[in-house]
Amino acid sequence: MSLVQARVLEHIEEDSSSAIWSSVSSSLKKEYGEETFKSWISKVDFVGCSNGHLDFTVPTRFIRDWIATHYEKRLLKLWRQHDSNVTKINIIIASKKNPNPEILKSERVNAETLSSSEPVAIEQSNINISNLDRRFTFENFVVGKPNELAYAAAKAVAESGVVQACYNPLLLYGGVGLGKTHLMHAIAWHIHKNNPKRKVAYLSAEKYMYQFVKALRSKDTMSFKEQFRSVDVLMVDDVQFICGKDSTQEEFFHTFNELIDNNRQIVISCDRSPSDLEDMEERIRSRLGWGLVADVHSTTYELRLGILQSKLDQMNISIPQNVVEFLAAKISSNVRELEGALNKVIAHSNLIGREVTLEVTQEILRDLLRSNERVTTIEDIQKKVAERFNVKVSDMSSPRRLRSIARPRQIAMYLAKALTLRSLSEIGKKFGGKDHTTVMHAVKKVEELISTDVEFGEDVRLLKRILQC
Ligand code: ADP
Ligand code: MG
Repeated sequence: MSLVQARVLEHIEEDSSSAIWSSVSSSLKKEYGEETFKSWISKVDFVGCSNGHLDFTVPTRFIRDWIATHYEKRLLKLWRQHDSNVTKINIIIASKKNPNPEILKSERVNAETLSSSEPVAIEQSNINISNLDRRFTFENFVVGKPNELAYAAAKAVAESGVVQACYNPLLLYGGVGLGKTHLMHAIAWHIHKNNPKRKVAYLSAEKYMYQFVKALRSKDTMSFKEQFRSVDVLMVDDVQFICGKDSTQEEFFHTFNELIDNNRQIVISCDRSPSDLEDMEERIRSRLGWGLVADVHSTTYELRLGILQSKLDQMNISIPQNVVEFLAAKISSNVRELEGALNKVIAHSNLIGREVTLEVTQEILRDLLRSNERVTTIEDIQKKVAERFNVKVSDMSSPRRLRSIARPRQIAMYLAKALTLRSLSEIGKKFGGKDHTTVMHAVKKVEELISTDVEFGEDVRLLKRILQC
């Protein structure tokens, strides 16, 4: 074949493949509809065909990924109806920022090649570790009954290389300071260490909204969408924040759906159960609960004790056991406060240069203890004790001396002394205006019975534990 003939043939081939492309793309338009065609397929430019490979360009990586997962197979099949020599499709990113098209391997690109408007969470590397707390690892997380499900689920998500539908999305919910953020960071750290190629984005819902609003303002929502939709694991903390923020919520819902549909992992935290997210649209609320919903319960005394011990071990510091127990018993609101209290005690002991005693601890933490005291009130104690012994709550403040009434009343007084910071006379007042000596007598009597009567002791301990939770 002469050179001229070869050139002519090339042209004919080019012409015919262009014709095939226009036929294939109009078939795709018919199959997927005008809307989809406009959003996605029309963004694809046909470059040429060589050695059975079709080359296309798209403006962004996001579009490339989308086309590859949704339309590529169909495109190839349609093309092969015209030309069965075609076996492979290459989709090349040729954006304005990247004028030299580069064929990207099937594995996802590193975040370095992303445009400059990345969210903080995935700048520079696959995980922006600068917004993760170093201490929030699985190793530093103390597991107990209240958080064992959340912990196990977080671990499963972190350790599993493939996304499992039963854990997707993983929704962690529970009150403030109970370890939700800790677990999310732990997932990110674990993946960072063991599977650095997976792209993880962690950010608060507040930051998500901020980024979205910024993108809206600069009319650049496309790259906003792209950054989030290109990750393997998306973690959004405190999702309750976007309740009632309609457009952010809507955008989040789309991102959420696309990621789930593309088999990417989503982890969300929330300070209440999805059904309590009043200002969240129903369809979003219900979708949040599609995977695994893990409730982080309030801490128990044992868990608080474990957490304090673990913190002390980490810092290689020791404080007297009775102080540790005191803190675990009194600071029951949440772990953040518990840690705060411990740090305060340690700082103080460093300052005064000697070991802290229980008295000093009480003094240092007076305000904090007052606010925590609200957790167990004398009214709570009276109610629980009355319930347990089948007497009326009003009997707690009555003058009746019948043993079946007087004994529970004494137990309640004892518990009021042990679990609140009220003085003996304050307690007496709450029990129908009794004298402080009556309260003191009750405390002594109950202590004596605890040490002599095993069953009685168990009863009181159980009540104490219930009241502390
Ligand atoms: P949340 O996000 O639920 O409000 P965080 O994850 O911020 O709570 O936790 C508050 C603090 O308590 C953090 O310093 C965290 O490390 C600590 N913490 C919570 N639960 C545990 C736990 N089970 N073991 C160790 N530390 C914990
Ligand atoms: Mg948090």
